[in-house]
Amino acid sequence: MADEKQNNPGEGDAGLDKLGESRFRLRKKKEVPTGLWLKCEGCGQMIYRKELEERMRTCPACEFHFTLPGRERIVLVIDEGSWQEHFQDIVSIDRLDFDEGIPYAQKIQRAVERSKQKEALICGLGTIHGRPVVLAVLDFTFMGGSMGEVVGEKIALAAELAGKLGRPLVMFTGSGGARMHEGILSLMQMAKTCAALAQYQEAGGFSICVLTHPTTGGVTASFASVCDITLAEPGALIGFAGPRVIASTIKQELPPGFQRAEFLLEKGQVDRIVRRAEMKDTLAKLLDYARGPVLEVPPAPAN
Ligand SMILES: [Zn+2]
Repeated sequence: MADEKQNNPGEGDAGLDKLGESRFRLRKKKEVPTGLWLKCEGCGQMIYRKELEERMRTCPACEFHFTLPGRERIVLVIDEGSWQEHFQDIVSIDRLDFDEGIPYAQKIQRAVERSKQKEALICGLGTIHGRPVVLAVLDFTFMGGSMGEVVGEKIALAAELAGKLGRPLVMFTGSGGARMHEGILSLMQMAKTCAALAQYQEAGGFSICVLTHPTTGGVTASFASVCDITLAEPGALIGFAGPRVIASTIKQELPPGFQRAEFLLEKGQVDRIVRRAEMKDTLAKLLDYARGPVLEVPPAPAN
């Protein structure tokens, strides 16, 4: 187990550990190939990497939606020239001096160097077909999109900013869950993000969350599931604990397609499944349902 973790420096948080481990890790490795060709996770066909990139990282044969790096997501949904990043300089602190063979501080440093961003959440202002929004994208390529103090703080700041500016809040998630390297502080972000969103919603704010492959653990169980509208990309794995943990706990065989977006749509946890190619147009349409540009933000409570 310890060796497996060392081989997968981007993982290791609570959600991922519970989630069908070997299968999941194998998939992640396939997502960061070095060659010109890669194998589709959905149908197993070999895909020319350039073709995959031209198709917004969806499989030409089966439409499997590969995990999209955060910056590419922003390019796909935000109007060109309208993006202004906010809160990009907030960095994580290794409060627990956490070491699982590789010190946490060192892991962060590596993720920063690889991704050229300081944390897993990218937040900013932009427009979607001319409609102003606050956008928050949880990037799976940065430490498995795990939620620690900085991700939680940036979600809360994004909700506050959206309230202050009277803009809808659009979020994309891709995450292994809470970041175990930050212990209980990472779990506290579940309550913090939900509180910030509740305050924003009470003030009349309109929010949309798009769950992408994979969204698991404490992220699914907190801010990703409390927005006005919950969308998902086709085939996305969405859940809290992994299927093997659940199957062994309830001692029952799980139904086919369990924890996939289509299954959750049928059960009512997801409002709609939207293909990546149609995401921007769909978001624009849904944003027109927002109550209006001006929100009444309540005054701060008197001391
Ligand atoms: Zn495929």
